[in-house]
Amino acid sequence: MARHILKIALDVPLDRLFDYLDGGLAAQVGQRVVVPFGRRKQVGIVVDIVDKSDVPEAKLKAILQTFVDEPLLDKEAFALLRFCADYYQYPYGQALLAALPTRLRQTEPAISRKQHVYSLTDLGRAQEIEAIPARKAVQRRVFSALRKNEQLSESALAELSGGWRKAMQAMLENGWAQASELLAGLNNTHKPDLVQLELNQDQVRALQAILKDTQKFKPWLLHGITGSGKTEVYIRLIQAVLAQNDDQVLVLVPEINLTPQLEARFRSRLPDFPLVALHSSLSESERLHNWRLAQSGQAKIVIGTRLAVFAPMPNLRLVIADEEHDGSYKQQDGMRYHARDVALMRAKHRDIPILLGSATPALETWHNALTDKYNLLKLADRAVAKAVLPSIRYIDVSKGGTHDGLSPILVEAMRERLAKGEQSLLFINRRGYAPVLLCSACNWIAPCSRCSSRLVVHLKQGRLCCHHCGHEEKIPRQCPSCGNPDLHPTGHGTQRLEQLLAALLPEARILRVDRDSTRRKDALTDMLATVHADEVDILVGTQMLAKGHDFPNLTLVGVIDTDSALFSPDFRAAERLFAQLMQVAGRAGRADKAGEVLIQTAFPDHALFNALRVQDYAAFSEALLSERKITQFPPYAFMALLRAEANDFALVQRFLKFAADSAREIVAEMGSHVMVYDPVRPQMERLKGMERGHLLMQADSRQAVQVLLRNWVPGLRGNALGAKVRWAVDVDPLEF
Ligand SMILES: [Zn+2]
Ligand SMILES: [Zn+2]
Repeated sequence: MARHILKIALDVPLDRLFDYLDGGLAAQVGQRVVVPFGRRKQVGIVVDIVDKSDVPEAKLKAILQTFVDEPLLDKEAFALLRFCADYYQYPYGQALLAALPTRLRQTEPAISRKQHVYSLTDLGRAQEIEAIPARKAVQRRVFSALRKNEQLSESALAELSGGWRKAMQAMLENGWAQASELLAGLNNTHKPDLVQLELNQDQVRALQAILKDTQKFKPWLLHGITGSGKTEVYIRLIQAVLAQNDDQVLVLVPEINLTPQLEARFRSRLPDFPLVALHSSLSESERLHNWRLAQSGQAKIVIGTRLAVFAPMPNLRLVIADEEHDGSYKQQDGMRYHARDVALMRAKHRDIPILLGSATPALETWHNALTDKYNLLKLADRAVAKAVLPSIRYIDVSKGGTHDGLSPILVEAMRERLAKGEQSLLFINRRGYAPVLLCSACNWIAPCSRCSSRLVVHLKQGRLCCHHCGHEEKIPRQCPSCGNPDLHPTGHGTQRLEQLLAALLPEARILRVDRDSTRRKDALTDMLATVHADEVDILVGTQMLAKGHDFPNLTLVGVIDTDSALFSPDFRAAERLFAQLMQVAGRAGRADKAGEVLIQTAFPDHALFNALRVQDYAAFSEALLSERKITQFPPYAFMALLRAEANDFALVQRFLKFAADSAREIVAEMGSHVMVYDPVRPQMERLKGMERGHLLMQADSRQAVQVLLRNWVPGLRGNALGAKVRWAVDVDPLEF
């Protein structure tokens, strides 16, 4: 009997494959098919073809359709997602389908429509915007966008205006603009930058070490502070690897915000190699197109955020994960994978090298480097000649001495920079005006009605906003609890600092950069351009500004209000704070100007600050690691967390109790050493109207946790309570 039973993965929350008959359609492994499922049609992927089913053949249905023109998913994709589904305890079919671009999850053929990119011609570049009549607003907008960008895709133009096509048509007709067919992202209109920077000794050493052995799995950690020249090592490495043959390189970055600049730099420094980006702000058709280019091998470089780790790349020869410590690599819903860890697994499966880069590696990664599981490469100096480390000073605010939260020393330092025509950055990790609204009579604090959090005052909009669930309400005129009309916004956010500075330094041009001020697409890019053009004296911003951006004229960084993180119950808080402050400090004084960092704190003698002063990550992490060893936290322990939530907390409790009991039974039966804690409420007890609970399990071996999960999770799926409670297993959790 010929093999004719198809094992198909479907996007359903059951960890199994479904059997279908071929129906004479000659489906192949890796093909996308449409199947009847219940009363609906579903897209599935053929994972295997066998000759027998456990279901009587008369009961099997046949598939309805195959998509013959589409390339097949390969074995590597199956193996990687099978591994992830098992490791992260997520249904295989859902994992597999979720890794595909949306267009491939629909029951229609996924045709990649021809797309174009547009750029200005020399003639167009020579024009002034006034040459376009003011009434043609759309054309003006398109024109100025094209001046700012080398090229624009259709989706970028559509974001500008719904009427862009007509405006573009006019500019094509008068010869100002040109269109070229988009092999999405393969077009490279960036000016090639072929100046070869001189590498320093550390860079040369790192490069040579990695290139010596690119034929097998080898994890490398490239440790170097901001400005030490990590990106240059990436570029040379990619150049060397791709020059050899038909290979591909995958580059992961933690945040979408970081892709455009890295993309631009790669495009100009590596002009010979087709590059595509993969991240969630691409349009669906762009994403499909880029994914296909990766799959066909045409794209030699794929740069993207965490979802790109699953991009099919038949000739993958090297993986780079930049800022590997960044928490954004961890997916926080669906399959809760960590893209860095998946990348490591992928590199291992393929037997190729992987390079992790960071100034402040995750402790897990650092531990692996210290124990020789990873190969450590250090970049000690700032690569740019003459550049020196910024000096870091602490302003003791424990005895007061601040006016409205700002110390006179910091204000004076900003005034000095202003006089010299240099830029300052004021960093505060809280957007809005003030973190709480307080009644001075009865101490009432405005709460979120849906979360156990406080509402943040957004004074400009006259609203209170929850930064956890998005709930908004008007600022009340009087205290709802006692009627007192005297309500005080208390504490500081970016908006308040902006206002304060405007009053203190009226001659300064101030720019606020946070999630509120950068909602519009390209807003951040536009803002960064004004900073580079020296149209800004003082930047006020959140961590958005801390990462990656290089401002040559910025010589002062002030940090406000970080003390709460010093005493957070979260065991990772100190690690995160250190990474964040190192990153912010790295903004000060690049190129040829010395930088200064002033940190306001009530605890200037804290060990974290002492290590930060000399930017000594190694000493700081050594202290943290010995703490973690004593307290048995990662990397000395491996954790899994069961998260559960429901409208009714009693349900959550019952479910978690059942879960804890059954986990303990399994542990006892197997004689394994997994510690199953009692269920607890997380710090954020209520979120978006749901009551939440956690169950933590931990052991000193990854294997022990995995064995428990494998034996335990199917029982949770089968439990009746489990259907009434929303729950998820989070392996190697980062947030609690
Ligand atoms: Zn009150
Ligand atoms: Zn809320």
